[in-house]
Amino acid sequence: MFILSGFRPTGMCMAQKHTTIDNATIAELLCREAEKTKPPLQRALRRAGRAALLWPEEAAEVVRQNRTLREFPAIGPYLEKIILKWIDDPPLALGPIPEIRRNFLTLTEARAILAENPQWRSLVRGDLQMHTEWSDGSANVRDMAQSAVQLGHSYISITDHAKGLKIAGGINEAELSEQAREIEAVNDEFNQGEKPLRILHSIELNLNPQGEGDMDLAALNKLDIVLGAFHSALRKKEDQTERYLAALRNPALHILGHPRGRIFNFRLGLYADWPRVFGLAAELDRAVEIDCYPDRQDLDVSLLKVARAAGVRISLGTDAHHPWQLRFVEFGLAAAKLARIPQDRILNFMSSEQLLSWADNVREYA
Ligand SMILES: [Zn+2]
Repeated sequence: MFILSGFRPTGMCMAQKHTTIDNATIAELLCREAEKTKPPLQRALRRAGRAALLWPEEAAEVVRQNRTLREFPAIGPYLEKIILKWIDDPPLALGPIPEIRRNFLTLTEARAILAENPQWRSLVRGDLQMHTEWSDGSANVRDMAQSAVQLGHSYISITDHAKGLKIAGGINEAELSEQAREIEAVNDEFNQGEKPLRILHSIELNLNPQGEGDMDLAALNKLDIVLGAFHSALRKKEDQTERYLAALRNPALHILGHPRGRIFNFRLGLYADWPRVFGLAAELDRAVEIDCYPDRQDLDVSLLKVARAAGVRISLGTDAHHPWQLRFVEFGLAAAKLARIPQDRILNFMSSEQLLSWADNVREYA
């Protein structure tokens, strides 16, 4: 059986008779169906459209094996019936994918790319964005560390939200130093044995549109590494180059997290003169992130190609809020591979010692 590829470099997705459709196409069809319906069905369709990005197998293949699509989360009998109809009789052409859903990889696509490039996959040594119970994550530092060891990582960076993001339970300077003690204790436990893990202490600064953070510089200077991201005024349509340039000049910042602020089928994210933004980042040796969370995938492959041309460093962060979500690193690894980011530009391919020495250098020249 030929499964039509959902790789949509031009934003087009085509399907023909006698072929069947992939999960990317099903995601798009579910989202379009949602636009034609009313709640509560609309919500179910939207949720399923988003969930399809994370299905671990091609739905068409599951059907071919006479299994039920209800194995997948967010799929009940009604949605199964709709999807089976599409698989059985694919629409002839989807036309352009709306920008709000464009350039997202599905898990099956990401895994296919990594299966073709096993060496690339083996290069990743750590994950540089995740949240714990200290802010809006569900697990403690130890649980995240445990999950990272199972994935084969040799370091992780804990990036709970800083105090400015109240809605996500952001932490203040006093809590940050309390957290440092917890991280130290978990490090004592995990730095032994055959597969030691190092837990780096970081934060997700809340950057305002002027590029300023929300924590004292003295507290940030005690951290191993500082990630910062925009969480406000994310629906602006005008060019936002100035806020990016200001954020990159912020002396505390090492990594600019989820740069565009886009969310699958929910928010487009910001626009900027990207060659200029990435050019300044490269000049100042700051990194820009691939937030690997499936409905973020921010930066995406098209912007990563611009980043590659600028020579800027790239950081992979899953933005995990639960231990199992550390697996999202597959999305970022696949995107970096598709964009042909050179190996030496990816922070997560460094050892923890190399990473920390880069972080120190950035501070010195800030
Ligand atoms: Zn964030």
